Amino acid sequence: MAAALALPATFAPRITAAIERAPRLPVVWLRGQACGGDTEAFLAAASPTVSELLLDLLSIEYHDALMTTSGEAATAARSSLGARFPDGYLAVVEGAIPTADDGMACTIGGRPFRDVVREVCDGAIATIAVGACAFDGGAPGASGGRTDAVGVTEAAPNARLISLPGCPMNVENLTATIAHYLTFSELPVTDSRHRPLFAYGGLVHNQCERRAHYEFGEFVLAWGDEGAQKGWCLYKMGCKGPEAFANCATVQYASATSWSVKAGHGCIGCTMPDFWDSMGPAHARLPSTLPFAPNITADQIGLGLVGGIAAVTAAHGAATYARELRNRVVGRRRAAAAATAGVVPAPVEGAVATLEPPAAASPGPVEPTPPEPMAAEPVAATPEPAATPKAMTTPEAEPVLEAGPSALVEPDPNEPGADEPEQPESSR
Ligand code: SF4
Repeated sequence: MAAALALPATFAPRITAAIERAPRLPVVWLRGQACGGDTEAFLAAASPTVSELLLDLLSIEYHDALMTTSGEAATAARSSLGARFPDGYLAVVEGAIPTADDGMACTIGGRPFRDVVREVCDGAIATIAVGACAFDGGAPGASGGRTDAVGVTEAAPNARLISLPGCPMNVENLTATIAHYLTFSELPVTDSRHRPLFAYGGLVHNQCERRAHYEFGEFVLAWGDEGAQKGWCLYKMGCKGPEAFANCATVQYASATSWSVKAGHGCIGCTMPDFWDSMGPAHARLPSTLPFAPNITADQIGLGLVGGIAAVTAAHGAATYARELRNRVVGRRRAAAAATAGVVPAPVEGAVATLEPPAAASPGPVEPTPPEPMAAEPVAATPEPAATPKAMTTPEAEPVLEAGPSALVEPDPNEPGADEPEQPESSR
């Protein structure tokens, strides 16, 4: 458990003592618009087993598939949570929450699931959203969905929330989250989307057993080919590991037996926001990969993007200012040339009208400019004069810049090798 929480092994005795000492935590498990995969994952818990979870750690007070009561008795059990557990209870939400048609696409006892979620989660000491659907709507909330399904974040914005996305969630992360709460009396540190960092703080790609094949350019190119049989990297078969944050590669599923890549299929990015739309199609290759960065997190990437956008905006502003400055100088030169030749100057391409009024309408004093050959030619037909290197440098500076300081020193004819041509670097 300490390893699952990314804690040193020295924490193991403390976690064990806390779990043994703590009273069983009352849990209300709600299920909405979903396939039931997260309940399946819960029933396959291995460390601890589901029986240990149910008998030692948790007291499942409400779960429509696991409790023996049903109908009005079950509804009454759920409605009396606050009175029965004054010290609080833990809410677990599985599945998306429909909002279209006043939430009537999914109801419990005739009430919209949305209202039940809000009522139960607002009264809980903490809410754990398990699976991609409870995270942000998942498949029911993807484009084309007709129920306007959302996750717990939207449906119950006042809930004290931990999200464990995935399709399904990894039950080891659920038990680790509960163990963390029982041990430290607080929820684990999360990213901005309520995902605990101990589970979602690193890229799948950086923990993947096939990473060495990626580095060596050894890829599966077709299902069942030689690379597939040798266990090579699935990047070219659409693996989303380089952009997905999760600990699937290290914790794995089904008693740490396997996970998607180990089974021969690429990661589908199911722990990421809006993954059905943003990570699909499942077998489409990613357009690019992130650089090797084992410790980077989703929030750090977001901050990097914000910084990059700010830098690009600043550069664009500087370039715009420089262009307008250049237009102003060119416009003045043309106005001076036109005054000399007695013609109306042509407008400068890209110039802002308010920056440079026409010379004919503003015959006031203009800056003196050095005489240039273009002054004798029609302005409209003359290409814009470019500054010559001579105009950019001083006569004194030219010899130094072209020949370098050594050219100013008289060579000593008696010095050995003074009359020999200098050898190229490579032949020395
Ligand atoms: Fe593993 Fe996928 Fe990354 Fe390849 S691309 S190393 S299979 S996570």
